[in-house]
Amino acid sequence: MKAVIGTMGTWVGLGAAAGLGLAAGGFAYAARWPGSRVFGDALIAPARPGELALTFDDGPNPAWTPRLLEMLAAHEIRATFFLLGGYAQAEPELVRRIVAAGHVVGNHSWSHPDLALASRARIREELTRTREMLEQITGVSVRYFRPPYGSRRPATLEIAREMGMTPVLWNAMTTDWSETSGELIAERLGAKIDRITRRGRAVNIVLHDGGHLAKQVYRAPSMAAAQILVKRYQPTHRFVTVDAWA
Ligand SMILES: [Zn+2]
Repeated sequence: MKAVIGTMGTWVGLGAAAGLGLAAGGFAYAARWPGSRVFGDALIAPARPGELALTFDDGPNPAWTPRLLEMLAAHEIRATFFLLGGYAQAEPELVRRIVAAGHVVGNHSWSHPDLALASRARIREELTRTREMLEQITGVSVRYFRPPYGSRRPATLEIAREMGMTPVLWNAMTTDWSETSGELIAERLGAKIDRITRRGRAVNIVLHDGGHLAKQVYRAPSMAAAQILVKRYQPTHRFVTVDAWA
């Protein structure tokens, strides 16, 4: 999926466009991909070229998140982790380690459902339960939410905002979860980073340290890609957490 960059500043929202009468296929597309800025308001990336946010989804993963934390610490870089509530409940020590290292922790729902298909009550339950779990574990308030699959049905983003959380999407992603080569993942993301930087935008990068189908899923390629990107871009770019843009 080609990254699309917001043209309206940090906040990209075209609520009015929802009335344009999209065909059913268009609706499904728009509801799932952050590049399609049709519904609601979500944070993607501001017009601050040279800034990179590394964001990691679907953890905590006891097999890979600790190695990622070591790598980030070695380079003195802070990142943003969108955690699943169910995994956080099972790995509270690891969640505390993430926060203690200075990273930002966000809400990625409890069980990673497609919220485009969920009732409002279910959405609220997924978000509330996760926020309460993360806050109970860390003592830090949860201010950011990333919808599973980037699903951006208006109700989902609305409920997140009502709960005081900012929905966060991204502008640089590849299929890191299904690749076997960290170099390939880094090469694809690097091309997007360079292009977005040239266009005068900050880059909001998604990688996966976990997986919603299994808590200890193998993530060596994604973790290798993160290290390659850190080494490549640290001399020229500034790594930030998403709260720097809110
Ligand atoms: Zn996810």
